[in-house]
Amino acid sequence: MKKVGLTTWRRISQVAFILFVFLMPVLNILRIDSDTHELILFGTSWSFGIQPEYFTDRTPLGALHIAGQFFLKGILPWVLFLAIFPLLGWLTGRLFCGWLCPEGALFELSDFLTLKLTGRRNLFGKRPSDPVNAKGNPLLYGAIAVLSAVVIPLAGGIALTGYFVAPKTVWHQVMTGELTFGVKAGIIGVAIYMLITSIVVRHILCRYVCAAGLMQMLFGWISPVSLRIKMDTNRISVCTDCKGCDQSCFMNVTPRKNKRDISCVNCGACIVACNKELGTGKGLFHLGFGKGCALPEENCRSLASSKTISV
Ligand code: SF4
Ligand code: SF4
Repeated sequence: MKKVGLTTWRRISQVAFILFVFLMPVLNILRIDSDTHELILFGTSWSFGIQPEYFTDRTPLGALHIAGQFFLKGILPWVLFLAIFPLLGWLTGRLFCGWLCPEGALFELSDFLTLKLTGRRNLFGKRPSDPVNAKGNPLLYGAIAVLSAVVIPLAGGIALTGYFVAPKTVWHQVMTGELTFGVKAGIIGVAIYMLITSIVVRHILCRYVCAAGLMQMLFGWISPVSLRIKMDTNRISVCTDCKGCDQSCFMNVTPRKNKRDISCVNCGACIVACNKELGTGKGLFHLGFGKGCALPEENCRSLASSKTISV
């Protein structure tokens, strides 16, 4: 049986996470109830759990109860939630960005369609690392691009509005065409945001704006144990200088520099490209935990001056 490749696994995880994000409000895992203005978490309404009698209790015990509940139900969950991304960054670098983030997946799709239509990934200019001869059938890719530009932002708008208005209500309004101002504003707002970021901004947002990305970047950078892309420096002589690794990197990293780059999202596209050039399992890159290069530090240092790496 044919082994499932890294790219296929990545696409499966990206699609699965998008479905999860879209379905969270439908399954009542997380949403705001627009009628009661309560937070619904795993099917139950999340409250501070403060008994009414404590509001009239003026003793230190009453104050302690209110403060305790506020800390336990209001502050602590947020701290724990916000700690997810630093923790992920510390352990897995920017793996979330490359393997799960719905926006990252959307930007990759935009890169792909731009590449097929214009021969370069970025609308505003060619980069040295852009793949060569990548243009495709303009009619086919033009049609896919137009369809994607309409369907994806609208689907995103409908799904994400479900976080603030009951998904049943949103769908009913969409199907009957009788949209309230709030639902209309939600759908159009999200759709415009998705359209603009995927056409104009793309990975600049991942690199300089996204808080989740920045936290993973920072903690991944300082972590001595985080997952990162590594190069087998002992076998550098087998590199054919095909530039496949550089051209596969949509984050514009040069993997052969074998230096930690905060933009790297551990997607593994360079691993796939190098395996394609040198043969399955014989590529020079792999993902691994821990410091620096895959092999002795002296090799990493000497690489800086090597001909192959000075790209
Ligand atoms: S360097 Fe490799 S793993 Fe990192 S983002 Fe680029 S292609 Fe993906
Ligand atoms: S893909 Fe592999 S062989 Fe090709 S340039 Fe990169 S490191 Fe060298």
